[in-house]
Amino acid sequence: MPIDPVCRMEVSEGTELKAVYNGKVYYFCSPECKAEFEANPEEYIKGEEMEHEHGKHSHEHGHRRHGCCH
Ligand SMILES: [Zn+2]
Repeated sequence: MPIDPVCRMEVSEGTELKAVYNGKVYYFCSPECKAEFEANPEEYIKGEEMEHEHGKHSHEHGHRRHGCCH
């Protein structure tokens, strides 16, 4: 299921509420979220990437392993 990049809830791919940015399709739960994204797409795309890299779980896990195996 795609994630609404603005409020981060799961949305159905069948929704009419979508926007294409940088060749990627983004789906939204409401016209408000879509408008919000279109007003400032960079912000929401950046946030998406940051959450992946600095996800608490993977960060902590990776750090620990590195410390004890080397
Ligand atoms: Zn939303």
